[in-house]
Amino acid sequence: MNNKLKDETILYTYDSCCGCGGCMQICPKNAITMKTAHAGGVYPKVDTEKCISCRLCIKTCAFQKEHVYPSAIEGYALVNNNKKELGQSASGGAFSAIATNFIKKNNVVCGSVMKYDKKVRAEHMVVTSKDQLSLLYGSKYVYSSLLPLYRILEKYLKNGKKVLFSGTPCQVSQIKLMFDKYKSNLYTIDIICHGTPSEQIFSDYIKFLEKKNAGKVIDFKFRDKCYGWGKYGSVVLLKNGEKQKIDLPQEKSSYYTFFMEGNLQRENCFDCPYAKSERCSDLTIGDYWGIEKYQPDILKSNNGSLDEEKGISAVLVNTKKGKELLENIDAALINAKVEDIVLGNSQLRHPVPKGKLYDQIIKAYHIGGYRTVENIFLFKRLKRGIKTYFTHAVKKK
Ligand SMILES: Cc1cc2nc3c(=O)[nH]c(=O)nc-3n(C[C@H](O)[C@H](O)[C@H](O)COP(=O)(O)OP(=O)(O)OC[C@H]3O[C@@H](n4cnc5c(N)ncnc54)[C@H](O)[C@@H]3O)c2cc1C
Ligand code: SF4
Ligand code: SF4
Ligand code: SF4
Repeated sequence: MNNKLKDETILYTYDSCCGCGGCMQICPKNAITMKTAHAGGVYPKVDTEKCISCRLCIKTCAFQKEHVYPSAIEGYALVNNNKKELGQSASGGAFSAIATNFIKKNNVVCGSVMKYDKKVRAEHMVVTSKDQLSLLYGSKYVYSSLLPLYRILEKYLKNGKKVLFSGTPCQVSQIKLMFDKYKSNLYTIDIICHGTPSEQIFSDYIKFLEKKNAGKVIDFKFRDKCYGWGKYGSVVLLKNGEKQKIDLPQEKSSYYTFFMEGNLQRENCFDCPYAKSERCSDLTIGDYWGIEKYQPDILKSNNGSLDEEKGISAVLVNTKKGKELLENIDAALINAKVEDIVLGNSQLRHPVPKGKLYDQIIKAYHIGGYRTVENIFLFKRLKRGIKTYFTHAVKKK
């Protein structure tokens, strides 16, 4: 961020802004708007005519704060007992089990939902009844906008409602900063985070898929449990009035592959101050990767009780409120070592490394749109295919 807001039109640097829009929300002069810029991400832009240099925007930006957080108190392996909720969740259904229990007590829950109206995108929303909760289930590997949320969230907190906010660590950190005066009623869950590509890149990818398949995307899952835990996703298209489901294996999707390789994320994710074992939330949830190494005896394949095919969540309890969130939930909860969860998940130790092709891909995207990103992907696959072919041919000889 720049000190002389009067002299500058830009409030951000690409590597220290997650596009949360908190600064825009807080500005007393409505001098900030969110504009699409680098890698299709939204960033704040200051209207220097309106700005009075009060610096409230800077004081309210979580990226400008020191990031000192407590270490986790306890760790757990968790599997939701409700089969339907487990099937709709990316991991072991930790979020659905906790949120279901929380909303039952007349509280509200806030999380990310995939929207399919004008453009396919992720956005945060507040849910007030159990029937709507499933909208929030599942991982959306894309920036989820908080912009429509701030005012609604404030209304509930002002009215004395207990709110459970779930999101990426940077979102949790921003929400906690903005609503500090309501902190006794604010409960937070953050996800272990591999970073988020921009809304624009994602929706351009969807448009590309729609054109290629001559249909309209009406459902998109990055992780579809029909195929097992963490295997792959699916897309449902509406074609000539009929629904068609297509599998989305990571290696066949340019977006998915480049996301996993760190080739599509917003710039700030490569320098993420939250990618460590000390956490900013009450409770951290993620996949319990490495469980077969650290706790093999609890797995169904070894006559234990947890089925690895259906997904197993890793849970870190960071505060007393986090512990409270786990009370009376309908789930199997087995003690796990915090160190094992941290060892199994690299984003609890360091940010996602920037992919080798990142600069090339983002440059291509800016020049030629998503089609050029897809071309880089196809070329890469072709090169790998030729290499594999010749390696096998040499081995046969
Ligand atoms: C962008 C992203 C990167 C991730 N990276 C990792 C990782 O590196 N390692 C790991 O172990 N787990 C990672 N996860 C978390 C994992 O995929 C599951 O979301 C998590 O384990 C929760 O699963 P669940 O079964 O408890 O609940 P689910 O029902 O699958 O998850 C729903 C929860 O995720 C939140 N959520 C979903 N998409 C978004 C989004 N775009 N922005 C903010 N919040 C969102 C919802 O608000 C809700 O709280 C990532 C998730 C996302 C969205
Ligand atoms: S991180 Fe959020 S509050 Fe900070 S500059 Fe970016 S949009 Fe504004
Ligand atoms: S310094 Fe004050 S007036 Fe200027 S953009 Fe920031 S919040 Fe708005
Ligand atoms: S990697 Fe860090 S900066 Fe990027 S979305 Fe996740 S928490 Fe935010």
